[in-house]
Amino acid sequence: MAIEAAAGLAGGCQCGAVRYRLIAEPTGVNICHCRMCQKASGGPLMAFGGVRLDQLVWTRGAPKNFMSSSIAERGFCAECGTPLTYRMLERDRISVTLGSLDQPAAVAPTSQLGVESKAPWLDEALASTMQKIADWLKLSEAAVGSRQHPDRET
Ligand SMILES: [Zn+2]
Ligand SMILES: [Zn+2]
Repeated sequence: MAIEAAAGLAGGCQCGAVRYRLIAEPTGVNICHCRMCQKASGGPLMAFGGVRLDQLVWTRGAPKNFMSSSIAERGFCAECGTPLTYRMLERDRISVTLGSLDQPAAVAPTSQLGVESKAPWLDEALASTMQKIADWLKLSEAAVGSRQHPDRET
C-alpha cells in the first residue's frame, strides 16, 4: 500500500472526534507486549510507530492523556476510548498506535518490546482457525451498520 508522501499518513479514533496527520513516516515501529500496553488496549499487545513531536498534527479534537507512569503518558479519545498515542515525557518523540492509522498496514513493526509479558498463547492463537468477520457474522458489513469513523478525512 503506497503512502501519500506529500500528505503523510492520517489517522484517528473510532468515533472520529480525534484526528491526526503525520508529516513524516513513522520510525522505530514496534510491537509491545508489556502489561501496561495490555491494560491500555485491552488486548494482548499494542503496535506503535513514532515521529518527532512537531511531526504530528492534531487535525480534529485532541486526545486526553493518562500518565501511565512517572515517565510516560498515553493519549486516547475521551469520547470513545480509542488508544492513540504513547509519549515518554522527556523525549522529543511521540508514537501513534498503528491500528489508529487510516492505512494500518502502511508501516510494519520490526521489533518487539515487553516480551516478558507476551501472552503464552499468542503464537498458537495466530496460527489457529481463520475466518473473515462477514463469514463469522453471516451478514454483510452494510447490514451491520458500522458507526466507526471511515479510514479517511471527513
Ligand atoms: Zn473517539
Ligand atoms: Zn508496552
